[in-house]
Formats: sequence, structure tokens, C-alpha cells
Amino acid sequence: MSLDLVIRGAVVVGSGTPGQVDVGVADGLIASVGPELAGPAAEELDAAGLHLLPGVVDAHVHFNEPGRADWEGFDTGTRALAAGGATAAIEMPLNAHPPTVTGAAFDEKRRCLERGAFVDMALWGGLVPGGIEALDELAARGVVGFKAFMCSSGIDDFPSVDDLTLYEGMCRAASLGLPVAVHAESEAITAGLAARARAAGRTAMRDFLASRPAVAELQAISRAIALAQESGCSLHVVHVSTGRGVALVAEARARGIDVSCETCPHYLVLTDQDAELLGNVAKCAPPLRPGEENESLWSALADGTLPMVASDHSPAPWAMKSAEDAFAAWGGISGCQTMLQLLLTEGCGARGLALELIAEVTSGYVARRFRLPGKGRLEPGADADLVLAKLGGSDELSAADLQYRHPHSPFVGRTLSARVVRTLVRGRTVFADGRIVGPPSGRLLTPNATRMESP
Ligand SMILES: [Zn+2]
Repeated sequence: MSLDLVIRGAVVVGSGTPGQVDVGVADGLIASVGPELAGPAAEELDAAGLHLLPGVVDAHVHFNEPGRADWEGFDTGTRALAAGGATAAIEMPLNAHPPTVTGAAFDEKRRCLERGAFVDMALWGGLVPGGIEALDELAARGVVGFKAFMCSSGIDDFPSVDDLTLYEGMCRAASLGLPVAVHAESEAITAGLAARARAAGRTAMRDFLASRPAVAELQAISRAIALAQESGCSLHVVHVSTGRGVALVAEARARGIDVSCETCPHYLVLTDQDAELLGNVAKCAPPLRPGEENESLWSALADGTLPMVASDHSPAPWAMKSAEDAFAAWGGISGCQTMLQLLLTEGCGARGLALELIAEVTSGYVARRFRLPGKGRLEPGADADLVLAKLGGSDELSAADLQYRHPHSPFVGRTLSARVVRTLVRGRTVFADGRIVGPPSGRLLTPNATRMESP
């Protein structure tokens, strides 16, 4: 077979072939993996000294287009993904306007991504009060599942669900064979504590942190699990911030309930003290937690009870982050470009996690859980979605490195011991040596038709 590309001599992670091997690419697919592949190939890349991983599939990003592309957009958002070693991502239904809660809104977002995305994109639909009838048309268009907020989303056009909407939405999602993803924090607890603090004039970062205690997350996760069990719906809990939250999900899974969860890099490497030090750039919900939670989340990753890491990239113009009142500032951390580097630095470098585990939680499991065909596997027949990384060294992340429309991030100033050298989507280089390579050629990904794999 004639190859379009051979990548020679990288240490290939997750292929089952130890040591330095070659990877051959033809027609956008991985054609062969093995030592010293014979040519001919139209292009050869010398990757000696580098690691080759399956491209990151980021299960949780907000790119805000259409309607709020001045916050990010598919252009800059997917440039950042490519620069961070991601070859695909799943975009959330809110923060764009209109939100993705109808078939027409899906079509509009699809046009935006097919025009501007440098990596492949799948879409979450939204589950909101009054929106259950629209789930069918969203499913028909190819959403990976439905996202719901159990507390205020911070965006008026994406209201939170009451328990009845969530339960009935789960019943409909179950009949469609699609998962429901929840932002799990109790509205009663968080809104009550926030109102009390603001009424007393307590509006500093520490007051915001105190208004969203762990119990708000744990209570909401338990409630979502109960509704998922009764409805027979697959459940995914986004951005779990506590080890106890992960444990609730793992216990439910052990009881046979189809539930998974993700955490985010910021819950692994930043603490409540960082939030107080850095201010609103590190404001997110659930909020950053005490350092013990970092370690309990790392432990859960290491022992396999925490199966997924996603960035929850939630950008905003700087002006929305600069309020004195911590409650008034936009909550959301820009982090899709740095996820892989942080996991390689803090997970593999500092804590000795296996590279294969990082590939699994950022790519393999994500693609299986959300049934994205061709993704998450570094083996013949899969899409040639690849990232070449240089491990070792130490580089300080600067704002100038960031591809975001608004290059702020709580990770600026951190020392990273892993660097993304090149990213390929379906065999085509989209990022190399610090530069994006165009034109944008990302595609819409839709889940394959088989039933979801149980977690
Ligand atoms: Zn989010």
C-alpha cells in the first residue's frame, strides 16, 4: 500500500507496541504501526525523541458561537485545541446564542463549525424546561447527548432544570439511546448561600468559594444518580470537583447504574488558595477546592475510578472577569490548550502516572463513552488523529503562547515539562512548531448508532 505519511521513531503510547515504532498514514487513517515500516511514503517525519499519543478528545468546551463569538468562537477555540494536542472536542449547548436546544439552533452551530474549526467537533444538545419535545430533532441531527444544569447556568437563555424536567428528559434520552450530562450543584444550597453573603456585603473570592460547598455537589450528584437509575438513562456528571463526588459515581456504577464522570485540569492542579491569590481568572463553578481534593482526584485517576478529564474551557472577555464583586464576575476558566501539557507535567512527571493512562482519560475513554467513530485509538483503521509531544524540559507558560481570543488563564506563569510539537487531524498537520496550519477543515462528528458502551 502506498502511504501518504510515515512518522518515524516516536515512542508510541497506547498502541500496544512498546518502544520506538513507525506509524503509517493513508487516506487520513492509520494504515500501519510497527518497527521500520517500508515506504514508499509521500512524506516522512522524523519523530525520534518524541512521544506519539492519540489526539485528545476534549469532552467539554464552550466556544460561544454563534451569538457570542466575541468571547471565543470556533476559529480561536479550535486553534487552541490544536496547539494543545486535541484533535476533536465536544461543544456545549450553552453560551452560544441561540443555545443548542432546537434542531434549527444545531444547524446554525453546525454551519459555524464547518466554516471555522481546525479540529473535528461533536455537539451536545441542551435539556431545558419546556424543551423535551426538541430532544428528538436534536438526536436526529447527531448530538452526542443532552446537557442540563441543576443550578443556574449564569446565562439567561439556558435555564436550569427542575427535577421533573430532568427526570422526564432522562426518560426521553433513554428512549433515544443518548446520555444526559449534568452540571451537578444544588441550586437551593448555592443560591441560598450566595444571597446570604451578598446581602451581608461579603463579596470577596473567599465568600464566593464558601457559597458553593462540596455538599452542594454531592447532593446534586446523588439526586441525578437516583433519577438516572429510575429512568434507565445513561448519566455523565461533568466537572466533578471532589473525591467524594467521584466516589458517589463509582459506587453507583458498581451497583450497575450507567454513570460516568469527568474532572478538569483546574480541579487537579489549582486550589482555593490559588483562587484567592489569582482572583477571578480562576473563578469557576464548582469552585476550586482545598489541596486535599487535588490529591483525592489524582488518586481516583490512578485507581481508575475517575475515567475522564475534560477542560471545561469556558472563556470570556477580560472585562467580564474584572469585577470587584466575585459573585458578579464571569465564572469559567480558559483551559483547553493546556490540558494535555498539565496532565503530562503534573500526572506523569510529578506523580508517576502512566502515559497510557493519560491517553485513556483524555482520548480513548471519551471516544468510547460518546461513541465517536474513528477517534481515541492509535491503531490501524482509526482516524490518524495524532499528537507528537516532547517530554522533559521546562517552559514557563506565557499569555503570548495562548491561542484563545482572550489570552488569559490561571495557568499562565506555570512551568510545564511537556510540549506539543505537532498535531495531526485525519493525517493532516494542523499545528506544528508553534504555528497553526490552515485552512480550517474540521468536521462535524456524530455518534455511531450502536448503543452506548457502559462505563
Ligand atoms: Zn462547562
